[in-house]
Amino acid sequence: MNHKKEFIELLENNQLKKTSTRFTVLNILKSRESAISQPELEAMLGKKVDRVTLYRTLSTFEEKGIIHKVLNINGTANYAFCSSSCNEHEHHDEHVHFNCTKCLSIFCLDHTIISPITLPEGYILKSLNLIVYGLCKKCNQVS
Ligand SMILES: [Zn+2]
Ligand SMILES: [Zn+2]
Ligand SMILES: [Zn+2]
Repeated sequence: MNHKKEFIELLENNQLKKTSTRFTVLNILKSRESAISQPELEAMLGKKVDRVTLYRTLSTFEEKGIIHKVLNINGTANYAFCSSSCNEHEHHDEHVHFNCTKCLSIFCLDHTIISPITLPEGYILKSLNLIVYGLCKKCNQVS
């Protein structure tokens, strides 16, 4: 599927220049069901994009509320597209992050309902980060 039009709009709305690196990274993120780490991205991009440019691209996207970072069980940062309610000022990725303990993939489970949590008096909730560990549907398949 071609998302070029959608990506042009996304970059323009965020006052970002339409560079080929940005398009490539957006395409890779869009084509995947799970989040992706910087080393994995580097491997996919090969020599086309240098490390620094990739690093900057990811941090710009994160600042703009386009992608968010999740850590896998080894502490490696992985990136995934944000929900539409994220923007330059705040992130609202309060969905379940599923960490597969076998393939180490991270999935953003947007449609899994998290029941509201009740805090003791005097505590204010600012953000919620729910990580679920287990086997993803691929690793769970009995062969
Ligand atoms: Zn976000
Ligand atoms: Zn898995
Ligand atoms: Zn997420």
